[in-house]
Amino acid sequence: MIVDTHCHINTKAFDQDLNEVIKRAIELDVSKMIVVGMDSYHNDKTIELIETYDGLYGAIGIHPCDVEHADFNAIIPLLDHKKVVAVGETGIDLYWDKTNLDKQKAYFIKHIEISIKYNLPLIIHTRDSFNEAYEIIKPYKGKVKGVFHAFSSSLEDALKVIDLGLYIGIGGVVTFPKAETLKEIVKHISLDHMLLETDSPYLTPVPFRGKRNEPGYTKYVCEMVGKIKDVSSEVVAKTTSDNAHKLFGLEQKI
Ligand SMILES: [Zn+2]
Repeated sequence: MIVDTHCHINTKAFDQDLNEVIKRAIELDVSKMIVVGMDSYHNDKTIELIETYDGLYGAIGIHPCDVEHADFNAIIPLLDHKKVVAVGETGIDLYWDKTNLDKQKAYFIKHIEISIKYNLPLIIHTRDSFNEAYEIIKPYKGKVKGVFHAFSSSLEDALKVIDLGLYIGIGGVVTFPKAETLKEIVKHISLDHMLLETDSPYLTPVPFRGKRNEPGYTKYVCEMVGKIKDVSSEVVAKTTSDNAHKLFGLEQKI
């Protein structure tokens, strides 16, 4: 069994065929998925989906690209939901907008503190911003748990994440021929520190690159990780889903 620890099947890209998408995922052995919120609309949609489908769990938070029109207080009551397993996604994004870094930092800190208060892991997004996010979270070492999702920084930075006791989220980019750094990271670090994800509908792996991504394609991420590490994809699936169960407490949430 494989867990897709990060998908946005709460977006309009899935309005037409979500039942089929979830069915296909289960056929590909991806029977648990974490649906990640980004703003009020998608957080509410996350709650609706996790109440409708077995095997779906939620993360509630405000994406760093959405801090300008976000209501942080609105997320707090949703964290009590029994199938909400994480706070996020949160973090820092300097790819789309560098002008509001102070606000992004303030929101990231709010998310970190609420995750500690609710004893929930954090789902952290960074883009062109690893150092900024790392400097903020570093003082919370030992108090926070979570994942740097769709990891895209260096091996050295991956080791810093592991030193904080956090996980590295590996997605479809690992299947891209030019993703040499990410392949090197996967080769070097232990499976014990990895989670698999799709970030659907984005970052579609080979052989579907260019099309809409969907949770079932975590299978291709799993196979590529196995190939790089020279272990069977069963071992990758088992170890990374054990990690996901442990981090997000999925067993207790069924
Ligand atoms: Zn995401």
